[in-house]
Amino acid sequence: MKATPVRLSTASSSFEADFQARLHWSADTDAAIEQVVADILADVRRRGDAAVLEYTRRFDRLDVDSLQALELEARELRAAFDALPVAQREALEAAASRVRSYHEAQKKASGESWQYRDDDGTLLGQKVTPLDRVGIYVPGGKAAYPSSVLMNAIPAHVAGVGEIIMVVPTPNGEKNPLVLAAAHVAGVTRAFTIGGAQAVAALAYGTATIPAVDKITGPGNAYVAAAKRRVFGTVGIDMIAGPSEILVLADGSTPPEWVAMDLFSQAEHDELAQSILLCPDAAYIEQVQQEIDRLLPSMPRAAIIAASLNGRGALIHTKSMEEACAISNRIAPEHLEVSSREPHRWEPLLRHAGAIFLGAYTSESLGDYCAGPNHVLPTSGTARFSSPLGVYDFQKRSSLIEVSEAGAQPLGRIAVILAEGEGLPAHAEAARMRLR
Ligand code: NAD
Repeated sequence: MKATPVRLSTASSSFEADFQARLHWSADTDAAIEQVVADILADVRRRGDAAVLEYTRRFDRLDVDSLQALELEARELRAAFDALPVAQREALEAAASRVRSYHEAQKKASGESWQYRDDDGTLLGQKVTPLDRVGIYVPGGKAAYPSSVLMNAIPAHVAGVGEIIMVVPTPNGEKNPLVLAAAHVAGVTRAFTIGGAQAVAALAYGTATIPAVDKITGPGNAYVAAAKRRVFGTVGIDMIAGPSEILVLADGSTPPEWVAMDLFSQAEHDELAQSILLCPDAAYIEQVQQEIDRLLPSMPRAAIIAASLNGRGALIHTKSMEEACAISNRIAPEHLEVSSREPHRWEPLLRHAGAIFLGAYTSESLGDYCAGPNHVLPTSGTARFSSPLGVYDFQKRSSLIEVSEAGAQPLGRIAVILAEGEGLPAHAEAARMRLR
């Protein structure tokens, strides 16, 4: 099996066309999936628990009489944690502690209420409040993701969310002990072993057993993504995540095998994942390819890695690091590694990325699990306009306005003029009544 990401050079006259072809990614939705999901949502809305049970039977091969039987009790989560080997317990707790510290710092920096007073005593500000109840979707169809439990539940907890309801599908009823243990560590309030569009619908609309939430966060497959897109408006959602991506900006100073493995670490997620290397040193790109050839056969997920690198990977030779930074900004990758001896020289040039990993020792995988920042990141170029999942996703803001009698005079005169201009006499009169 070979993995040979396409080689591109910015010096080539065909670069622009080749680059566009390789990067083009259609986020268009699949009509068949859309129809299936629309039907499931409508059915759960109409029939509640009974519909959720039926779809769970069909898609997860899990047959029970009531949704209460699919609720995980707090003591089951705790027991799963207690039963883990010590090394796993300590790793979960250490990761959770770092993720918590990071999000506490985030809350302090940008998630607090603020206000100020004008000279006439008018008070203006913003009041920040946590959401009452959120649903977190933890994928579980083909693999289990305990790290996703931490990354979704901890910022919600730090924000002060009152109730955190986790859903996780358990095909054939096989519960993953690490996922249950992570829910215990992360402060999940209630949990149900349901998944797919039916779980999203239950959280959005509420059923007899599952309370309706205010927002749904967390990744999932195409059915989950389509369901989240459709319930947006009834509830908030965090984002629609596409296949994972990594872009490595290398100046040639990092051991090439490290870079090859970092490219693998996203490619192994799925065949549609994208791994790109940008480097001004042609000989180094050749060395990375040699390491890909050497390391691939020993990788348990070699087939997925090869499909991803052959289908969507690229090794791009640039004229300079500055040009590499400019191309990276056009791609706006989910994960951006600056594998350079001088990462702080290049960081100011980088504007669009979900997360930026500085220096040779900062492998993206550390960020996935335990460095502290959130691993739920914008994909498919959406880092141009959106941000990692954070405490702010579990908060909302209300404006605060208190106008003093003195303040009502100049503001009232302005409001009267503008309200009359808009043809809204009651607005004008309400302001005029308060003029001395
Ligand atoms: P999942 O929990 O997202 O989906 C499983 C559910 O899909 C099932 O319970 C079922 O209800 C539904 N489903 C499956 N086939 C169906 C069909 N034919 N019709 C209707 N519904 C159907 O689990 P998964 O499938 O393993 O997918 C997880 C996804 O999440 C992957 O794409 C993975 O890459 C992604 N992920 C992303 C991140 C991130 O941080 N971006 C983290 C972890 C996982």
